[in-house]
Amino acid sequence: MNTQSEYRKLPAIDQLLQATGVVALGRLYGRSQLTDAARAVLAEARAVIADGGAAPDHEAWPARMDAWLAGASAISLRPVINATGVIIHTNLGRAPLSEGALAALQRVDAGYSNLEYDLAAGGRGSRHDHARRALIALTGAEDAMVVNNCAAAVYLVLAALAIARDVLISRGQLVEIGGGFRIPDVLRASGARLVEVGTTNRTHLKDYQAALTAETTAIMRVHSSNFYQVGFVTTPTLEDLVKVAHSYGVILIDDLGSGALLDTTQYGLAGEPVVQQSIKDGADLVTFSGDKLVGGPQAGLIVGKQSLVTKLRNHPMARALRVDKLTLAALEATLSSYVRGRAEEEIPVWQMIAASPATVQARAVHWQTQLARAGIQATVIAGESTVGGGSLPGEVLPTMLLAAPARNPDAVAKALRQLDPPVICRIQHDHLLFDPRTVLPAQEEPLLTAIAGSLTIDR
Ligand SMILES: *Cc1c(COP(=O)(O)O)cnc(C)c1O
Repeated sequence: MNTQSEYRKLPAIDQLLQATGVVALGRLYGRSQLTDAARAVLAEARAVIADGGAAPDHEAWPARMDAWLAGASAISLRPVINATGVIIHTNLGRAPLSEGALAALQRVDAGYSNLEYDLAAGGRGSRHDHARRALIALTGAEDAMVVNNCAAAVYLVLAALAIARDVLISRGQLVEIGGGFRIPDVLRASGARLVEVGTTNRTHLKDYQAALTAETTAIMRVHSSNFYQVGFVTTPTLEDLVKVAHSYGVILIDDLGSGALLDTTQYGLAGEPVVQQSIKDGADLVTFSGDKLVGGPQAGLIVGKQSLVTKLRNHPMARALRVDKLTLAALEATLSSYVRGRAEEEIPVWQMIAASPATVQARAVHWQTQLARAGIQATVIAGESTVGGGSLPGEVLPTMLLAAPARNPDAVAKALRQLDPPVICRIQHDHLLFDPRTVLPAQEEPLLTAIAGSLTIDR
């Protein structure tokens, strides 16, 4: 190949921009985007020629520019199909929102709202008034507040109430939640002084009592969320911790993380701490996430004593950690499902937890039948779903999986991830596993098309 003559075949930028196909692209893209695209595809072509390749055909340029522009303007945050069976999958955006929450987003966020407007008085209101009443009604707490996430909730509580003061925590509760979020780091960053109490596996009431001094401002209990300890283990009950804290005039902060508002044991799972119970047991402040077992948008929910929550609301960091109208709209609608006693029916996380083995099996068998029509042989096998999201470690929900054999399962799984919407599944030996429990009904059709397409390539 004569490199010099290939270079000479490349059009000048102006020439390229005047080509008929490129002029047509001008309906979708602006002048400067087109120029960027022309530069980019010309640079690509030069690189190919430098490697001994040929210049592209005259007709190929508009398509190349179109592809470059589509890539450059692509939205990176996209929906995916979660066929992993992990219900609260942190990497996949945790809780899918309920229809009620989506409708609230649409209603409130498409226009103006009374976010900080008091409709009765016709003047300034507070965003903290939204969701507050529902949180109080659901948890039995005196007061409630919403911030950006549970990490922010913990940070705000400590910054507002424990700066330069001692906070006692059991050594068994100095946990890393995931994504590098470590309770001791947040504590230090807030300005509170961490006082470790007890040992990794055993902490007694007397350990707390021995560590309480005039410098102590709080005892903090942290839910171990993503692991559990067995064997020679002990930790005081929350009720006993509250008694000790209050007898010394310090507050009890309970960081629950997942924060269930419903009892998980009714689904054959272990008991996840319930927010209402912490309040009943006397915790002064309870912090939990909006997008774990609550099943709503990312948020940090703080419930507890009114005098304390008032201090949090008035702290300068409250503004930095506050939530926007999108979050409040989705959260209020999610909480409304609980208030109306309709959480299991309306909130996807609870629908998925509550889905009976028979329901899951029927869906898996339906998928199997549909795929058989496309010439794909798959089986339905017993397996396990998990709740995820730093809740119920080691606990599983029996499920039925669609198992599709593949010659090269890694390659098929990769191909599935490149689709739109991408499909995320599990691999076990030489099978791809798809768990119906976490696949939203509206995603069934694209899922089956994706599986059929990718397995046809595998043959
Ligand atoms: C998950 C978790 C957090 C952090 O919650 P985010 O909402 O992800 O910020 C804090 N504490 C505990 C105990 C948790 O499980």
